[in-house]
Amino acid sequence: MCTHKKKKDIELQIYEETDLPTKGWIQGCILCKMPTSKTQYYKSKKVGDLDYHIFIHLCKDCVNYKKMENLHNRKIIDTYLEKYYLIPCRSNTPDTSL
Ligand SMILES: [Zn+2]
Repeated sequence: MCTHKKKKDIELQIYEETDLPTKGWIQGCILCKMPTSKTQYYKSKKVGDLDYHIFIHLCKDCVNYKKMENLHNRKIIDTYLEKYYLIPCRSNTPDTSL
């Protein structure tokens, strides 16, 4: 329903699906699935009246190897975001547990 009156900030944490509990601190690295508690700001995106601030789980190896500077990897994440999260008026309560 498109009933958002106020601008809303929504923080999204993106991670690879693993057997780990979805509410835990530790989640799979978005690029290699390695369990990690590290998150990194990715970008913000406005969809309708909602401001999404996107954080990704990225393990220290992927950070060290600067994998996020690889355009191919960014494209994978962007595609994923468009597909699952950044759809206007999909829901009032975006939930990271699909
Ligand atoms: Zn990784």
